[in-house]
Amino acid sequence: MGCPPLHGWILSVHTGRGAFGSSTDSPSRSGPSSLISEQEFLARRGDRALRLGFGGSCPTEEVGLVVQRAALRHSAARPAVIAAANLLARWVPNLSVHLPEERTGSLAMAVETAVRTANPFLEIRWLDTPPLGPSLTIGPSATSSPNGLTAWADGWVAICNRRPSPAPSSTPITSVLLFAVTLGVGGVFREAWKLPVAGPPELRWDTWNHSVGGAPRSRERPTLPVRPPKLGNVLQVGAGAVGSNIIYFLGLMGARADLLVVDHDVAKVENLDRSLLFGLEDAHPQETPKADAVLRAVECFPTLRVRPVPSKWAEYASKDYRVGDFDLALALANEDQVWAEMAHAVLPLTLQATTDSDWGVAFGAHAPGSGYCLQCRFPLEAQVAPTICAEGPVEIQSAPGEAETVHASLPFQSAAAAGLLAVEIDKLSLGPVPGAPNYVEAKLDVIEQVLSVHRGRSLQCRPCLDFPEELWTAKYGTTRFAHFSQLSRWSE
Ligand SMILES: [Zn+2]
Repeated sequence: MGCPPLHGWILSVHTGRGAFGSSTDSPSRSGPSSLISEQEFLARRGDRALRLGFGGSCPTEEVGLVVQRAALRHSAARPAVIAAANLLARWVPNLSVHLPEERTGSLAMAVETAVRTANPFLEIRWLDTPPLGPSLTIGPSATSSPNGLTAWADGWVAICNRRPSPAPSSTPITSVLLFAVTLGVGGVFREAWKLPVAGPPELRWDTWNHSVGGAPRSRERPTLPVRPPKLGNVLQVGAGAVGSNIIYFLGLMGARADLLVVDHDVAKVENLDRSLLFGLEDAHPQETPKADAVLRAVECFPTLRVRPVPSKWAEYASKDYRVGDFDLALALANEDQVWAEMAHAVLPLTLQATTDSDWGVAFGAHAPGSGYCLQCRFPLEAQVAPTICAEGPVEIQSAPGEAETVHASLPFQSAAAAGLLAVEIDKLSLGPVPGAPNYVEAKLDVIEQVLSVHRGRSLQCRPCLDFPEELWTAKYGTTRFAHFSQLSRWSE
C-alpha cells in the first residue's frame, strides 16, 4: 500500500503496514514476536503521565474533530486536518470525525492513515453531524459548541477560538494553521481533562510580530501566499519530540530540504504520545534509532531528503562536522549541554525551539558571528541537570472535594514548539524581516501575552569572543540565510 496522494505531493506519513497483528499486515511484518497488546501499548505510551501522578487515562470518553467545508477551499486546511487527527489520536481514548466529504475521499484516507500511525488500536467513529462533546473544529465557523474550540488562520494570525470564527480576510498560511492546530488541541486537552478554562475566549496570535489580542497589522508583511520554503542543507541535531515534529510539519508544508539528522537515541513506545512522525513500527518490537526512523518516515514526504547520523553530537562534531557545509542548523536536542557545545562548532544561522515544565514553549534564532549565539542563551554553567520538557502542573480532583496539583505530560506541547519553529522557518524563506524578534516565549495554559524580543550577544560569551565575524562571513557569507546574520548585526 502506498501513501495517499494529496495536492500533487504526498502528505500522509505512514502506510498502514504495521507490527500490531491486524489482518492487513503484510506477512513479513506480522508474527508472534511483533505483537503488542492494546493494554500494553496504552500503558507504555501513557507511562510518563501515570508516573507523574496524572491519575490514569483521559476521563472524557470521546473527543471530536470537525472540518468545515469552507476550510477545504484553502490549501493549508488539508495538512492541518491530518496533523490535528494525528495529534488528537496520540492521547484521546476515542476519536469521532466529521468531514464534509465521503469516507472514501483522499482526505478521509489520509486521516485514517494518520490515526493508525498514532494509535493502531484506535478506530475512528465517523459522524454525519458534529459531535457534542469536547471537539476541535478546523475552519471558519458560524456556530460554536459549548466545549469545542476552533483552530484557523487569517494570513499570519493563528486563531484559536471558543466562539464562532468569521471567514478570513487573508489566505491561511500552512505553518500558521499548523501552529493554530497545536494550540487548539491544547484547549481540547483542557476540556477533555475538565481543567479550568484558560486563555482568552478568542485568541488571535499574530505570528508576524508575535502579539496577541488584535494589535494593528504591520504594513511590511507580505500579502502574497507563502510558497513552501526552500531550506538547502540543514543540520538538525535532535530528533526527539520537537525534532521529529518539525520534520513532520516541514513535510506537510512541502518544504524542500536536505536534512542531516544527528540523534543517538532510539524511538520507544513511551515517545509515541508526542512524536507525530513516529509510529509503533519504529518502536516495537525493535527500538529503531530515531535518526533511522526519520529516514523511514520521510519516504512519504518527497520534498525532504534525510541523511541519518545515529550518534551523539559530540561524536559527529569531532569526526565529521565541516564548517561551512550547511545553510541552516536546527538545535533540538536537550541533554548533555549539547546546546552550549554546539556553539563551539561555528554554526550557520541556528534556530532552536523548546518546551519547559510549566506549559511553556520558546523559540530562539541564533546568529553566530554577528550576535546572540547558542551559548549566549545557554551558558555552559547554567545547564547542570537534564532539562525537563513537555510538562505542566495541573490541578486534578484526587478525591471527592479534594484537589491536588500534579505534573502532567502534555502531548501537544512539543508540537506547539515545533509549530512556532515552522512559522519562523516560513518567515526566514521570505528574506530579511527588519525588526523581527529573535526570541519568543509563551505559556500554553494562559495565553494572554507572548514575550517577543530581539536579544543581542552576551559580552562574556566565549564562542562569540573566539570566533570573529570575519571567520563566519568567510565560511557562511554566501549561504542561503546569511542575510539573517547581517540583519541581526544591524539591529544591535
Ligand atoms: Zn555567544
